[in-house]
Amino acid sequence: MKKTLLSVTLWALCVNAHALTLIHAGSIIDGEAAKPVREATLVLDGNRIQGIEKGYRAPAEGDTVIDWRDGTLMPGFIDMHTHLTFQGSKDSYLEPYTLNPADVALRGVMYGKRTLNAGFTTVRDLGDAGLGSIALRNAINKGWVQGPRIFTAGTSIGTTGGHADKTNGRNQELVGDPGPKEGVINGPADAYKAVRQRYKDGSDLIKITATGGVLSVAKSGENPQFTDEELKAIVAAAKDYGFKVAVHAHGKEGMKRAILAGVNTIEHGTYMDEELFPLMKKHNVALVPTLLAGEFVADKAKIDGYFPEVVRPKAAAIGPKIQGTFAKAYKAGVTIAFGTDAGVYEHGRNGREFTLMVDAGMPPMAAIQSATSVAARVLGQSDLGTLKAGMLADVTGVKGNPLENIALLEAVDLVIKDGTRVK
Ligand SMILES: [Zn+2]
Repeated sequence: MKKTLLSVTLWALCVNAHALTLIHAGSIIDGEAAKPVREATLVLDGNRIQGIEKGYRAPAEGDTVIDWRDGTLMPGFIDMHTHLTFQGSKDSYLEPYTLNPADVALRGVMYGKRTLNAGFTTVRDLGDAGLGSIALRNAINKGWVQGPRIFTAGTSIGTTGGHADKTNGRNQELVGDPGPKEGVINGPADAYKAVRQRYKDGSDLIKITATGGVLSVAKSGENPQFTDEELKAIVAAAKDYGFKVAVHAHGKEGMKRAILAGVNTIEHGTYMDEELFPLMKKHNVALVPTLLAGEFVADKAKIDGYFPEVVRPKAAAIGPKIQGTFAKAYKAGVTIAFGTDAGVYEHGRNGREFTLMVDAGMPPMAAIQSATSVAARVLGQSDLGTLKAGMLADVTGVKGNPLENIALLEAVDLVIKDGTRVK
C-alpha cells in the first residue's frame, strides 16, 4: 500500500515536472529565419523554449494548450531605448520639484506593466533620476512587481550644461553644481569616477549624451559635448567594468567622436550621413532610431506652450528628420536595433515604432528581427530574441499576420515572459 502510494506520488511529480505549454500557432516568426513556419506548435518547458514542431502536437496529461491557430507568434520584443521612470508631458519640467525618488520609482511600476503588456518583455533603460530604474529592475527580478526584464544605465552621463545635466534651466541657487555622481563630468578623471559610480549603483551599461538633445532646457540640440579624451576615458572605464556604452547623439561631430572612441550604439542619430554610415559599420556600432520619439516631439512642437520656448525649435527641427536618416542608414547597411525612447511619448505605445520603420522602407520581417534577434545580439544576451530551443520563454502573439499588417504590433494580444503568461 505504502509502496503504491509512493510510486503514484513519484509518477505525479514526474508528470508535473514535464508539464509543457503547447501553443498551436497559425504562424511562427522565430526572430531569425527569413520566413515564418506555418501551422506549428511552440513548446515551452517552464521558463525555456523546448522548440518549434510542425503541426499541432497533442497534449499529454497536465500540458497546457493555447489555441493560437488564427494568429502569429514572435519572440518577446526588445526595446533598446526606454525611460521607464520618466513620462514627458507639459508638466514634467516641474516634477523634479514635486516628486521624490520613491514617487518616481513607484510610478515606474505602472509604466513597466504597460510596456510588458505591449509585448516588450525586455528593455534597456537609458537614463533615470534617483536610480529608480535600478530599483524597478530589482523589484521585477525578485517578482515583487510585474514588468519587462530591464538592463539599465542608471543615471546618464553628460558634461556641464549638456543634455544629461539635470540642472539646466533651473534656479542655480537651488540646484548647486552637479558632479560625476549625478552624471556631470569634466575631464577624463571625472569620466572614470562617473563610470565607477554607476558600477557601485548597480547599472548594467553606460549611457552618455554626446551631443545636445531635444528636451533639455538648453539652446543646441546638436553641438558636441565631450572631448575625445573624455570619450576615450568613458569607453576605457566601461570596458574595465564590462559595460557597453549607449550614446545619445543628434549632431554629426559628437556622433563621429563617439563612434571613433569605441561605443556600442548611437541613439537617434538624426544628422548621421553618408560619411558616418560606413564608419558605423566599420566600428560595429548599431543605430537605435527612436522614430516614435521624433514623431511625438515634432507633433507637440506645433502646440503653443507645450514645450519651454528653448525646447520648441529643437523639437520642430530634429523630430521630423529622424525617420529620413533611419531610411538612409538602413539602406546603407547599418545595423538597426529597435528602440523608441519610451517616456518621451506615452509608455505602452512602443509597437508603433514598427509601423514607422516599415513606412520608411524597412520590410516587416526586418523590423521584427530588429526588435528580437538583432536587439538581443546588440544587447549581448544570447538567450533572448529568438524562439529557438533553450532560449528564455518570452513570446508575443497577435491575431492575424503582422507581415501583411504591421500595425497589428501596435496592440498585441498575447504576452509570455519567462514562461508565465501575462496577457
Ligand atoms: Zn532617451
